[in-house]
Amino acid sequence: MNFTEYIQSPIAKEVIHNELEHSFIYFKNLNADLKQLFVERTSIFIEQKKFVARQHLDMTDTIRIIISACAVQVTFGLDTFTLDTFEYVVIYPDVYESPVTKQMHKGETNLNGFICLSWKHVLAGLKNPADNYNLGIHEWTHALRFNGINYDQTDYFFDGYINKWVANAMHEFSLLKKGHPSIFRRYGAANIHEFLSVCTEHFFESPDEFKLKAPDLFEQMCILFNQVPGIDKSAQIDVRNALLGVSDIADNKQESPLLTMEASFFRTLLNMGSGLLYFSITLVVLLLQNNVTTTVLAVVVCILALVIMNNKYFTIKFYENNIYLQSGFIESFANKFSINYRSLIKMEIYDGNYDTSVGTVFQLKYYNGSKFLKKTVYCSSIDVPREKIVSLLYKKKVLVRYPN
Ligand SMILES: [Zn+2]
Repeated sequence: MNFTEYIQSPIAKEVIHNELEHSFIYFKNLNADLKQLFVERTSIFIEQKKFVARQHLDMTDTIRIIISACAVQVTFGLDTFTLDTFEYVVIYPDVYESPVTKQMHKGETNLNGFICLSWKHVLAGLKNPADNYNLGIHEWTHALRFNGINYDQTDYFFDGYINKWVANAMHEFSLLKKGHPSIFRRYGAANIHEFLSVCTEHFFESPDEFKLKAPDLFEQMCILFNQVPGIDKSAQIDVRNALLGVSDIADNKQESPLLTMEASFFRTLLNMGSGLLYFSITLVVLLLQNNVTTTVLAVVVCILALVIMNNKYFTIKFYENNIYLQSGFIESFANKFSINYRSLIKMEIYDGNYDTSVGTVFQLKYYNGSKFLKKTVYCSSIDVPREKIVSLLYKKKVLVRYPN
């Protein structure tokens, strides 16, 4: 989408600072360091965006500052905040007729690369900071959600975590959809994207109520946005890792596991599948030669097979808050690892269709405090209580998938 007339020019940082100090409550409450960061980000945002005035709107610096500040507020805890997919910001003085729906709109986030806003309604959203209506926050949250759609640079954590947020939001979302009493406004029941935007408005405008009435989802919001908003105090950013509690490697010995899958040598052997067949044939062929070289080779092949098996020999324990993994035959030399459910985004379950293994293999996608990583776990236990595992992970809000 191309608009022929637009304004794209920088605004001095002092002007931005004064304007926000005067009219933007979120900014007014920030501590001095965060104010400086906020002004810097707003200044960069303004320089990048092309502002289009519609219906004889007089495009002032105030309009450009306030509307950019709404976006900066939403993305304040994130590393990437410029929302590059949305090149144009189209401002109407009041509600406008959408060319697509022929209905009157207050705002719209269009995936062709622009967002539209009614200035009157942006101001109304800011005027009452606790009514949970905030048009600027609402539309910029849609923009953040869809920013990655054209492969533009997007926030790494937000995009990696959003599905985990959805899994956590399903409970409140379905209550709202069924018409049960909810702190969130009805419009959020339209679909999960509207629910995210409605939750974000509530998150910034009534954080205390949100935290009290829906504490788990509130915490998920803090993790997703990497900030804790404050109504009459400074917002805090960089709160994510503390909330995720990225844990140490620990077998919670004092606590009894909810589910244990003890590794079995026999099962590990079976899991080798076709690998076991190739190994046996190689070994027989080598031993039949009956000379020193081939015997040495046979020993090497056996050692190699043992090393591979050692890596696939997994004991898995599910605790209340984390999954503990231990691989290797000898405990003192074993590889130990644990992931808490909050950082565990997804578990994929492969049944007999993962590399050469014939057994069940889990692939865990998790966040380690700076990156999303994958870990492959071979189920070396005789008994794999799949339904119990799935229902436990469902309770812990971990996504479970069965890829083919
Ligand atoms: Zn919306």
